[in-house]
Amino acid sequence: MDNLLVFGGSGMVGSALKEVDTDLNLIFLSSKDADLTSEKETEKIFKDFKPKGVINLAANCGGLYKNLDHGIQLFHDNIAINSNVLKYSYEYNVEKVISCLSVCIFPELEECPWVKLPMSEKDVHSGPPHFSNNCYAYAKRMVDILSKKYRYLYDKNFITITPTNIFGPFDNFSENTGHVIPGLIKKAVFAKNNDSPLFVKGTGSSLRQFIYSKDLAKLILWAYENYNDEETIILSPDENDEISIKEVAEIIAEIVGVKEVLYDTSFSDGQYKRTVTNKKLKSLHSKFNFTPIKTSLEETVDWFIKNKI
Ligand code: NAP
Ligand code: GDP
Repeated sequence: MDNLLVFGGSGMVGSALKEVDTDLNLIFLSSKDADLTSEKETEKIFKDFKPKGVINLAANCGGLYKNLDHGIQLFHDNIAINSNVLKYSYEYNVEKVISCLSVCIFPELEECPWVKLPMSEKDVHSGPPHFSNNCYAYAKRMVDILSKKYRYLYDKNFITITPTNIFGPFDNFSENTGHVIPGLIKKAVFAKNNDSPLFVKGTGSSLRQFIYSKDLAKLILWAYENYNDEETIILSPDENDEISIKEVAEIIAEIVGVKEVLYDTSFSDGQYKRTVTNKKLKSLHSKFNFTPIKTSLEETVDWFIKNKI
């Protein structure tokens, strides 16, 4: 059977992909198999496996506070990983590549009054991203540019997907480098055990659309088998499901059993909102049902308690 390589196979989304029922022969790789920032190591992987397809989930990524402090490293690593994977996918005749963009590549609305909400696939390059994560966001935007150029010059089926904020089992639960949901879950469980309040960083007013890693994993395989356009596709629950950090913190506090939620407003809130539409996804895959956020948060809390405590 043809090999289909999954780079970033040990991460949160890669781990969710391992659980999806599929006839595809997925081979999951991590940075232990190859450091994709190295051209030499990347080429060796393509030479050894001769894959027919690639799903590239490998990235140096993290939450708002990692982006604020480590933007330069995020830029260099992600430019190198994506450039190497596309270059050797082309050189080794890979038929299809899925690369992963991110919702934070969309423009910062305050600086771009011409951009209308909800944003769509057409807005990926409509204006500068929010300054807090601009290094990561510009590195991700370049994947869109490069994939389109390989399509135009060499007729390669290189596509991109754009998920909104992801969470689930196997996430990075570090309060300093991870995203908001794993950070809040970890702090809530410790707060419960110490009978203390849950501290939320910032005011809690920012709005986000969250996708459960298990839903995203199913959509990635759907995209591998069904989506072939050059324009990216947003993978997200409805814009009506956009939720404030305050609401998310309160749901997590309720699930874990924490009585008090407090806000440390000395921390940045990051981008206020970046609402996107999933109209394109719905038009192509109308039957897909997203897991309700309360259910997916309960499952993630449960996983954290069983695996990380
Ligand atoms: P993750 O949990 O941080 O996992 C990252 C994966 O990339 C790991 O398997 C890691 O391998 C691998 N990796 C990192 N640096 C590498 C390198 N130099 N060489 C080879 N492999 C390397 O990431 P995720 O949350 O699953 O994200 C999956 C994709 O979704 C990424 O492209 C990310 O940018 C994108 N995305 C994430 C979010 C989010 O909220 N998390 C939102 C939108 C888009 P090791 O385990 O060996 O380190
Ligand atoms: P973003 O969505 O790309 O900005 O990244 P995050 O997943 O890190 O979400 C950031 C939002 O959650 C900001 O509004 C933060 O102020 C808020 N937040 C609240 N508590 C935490 C926390 O413990 N960790 C993180 N990363 N963000 C938090």
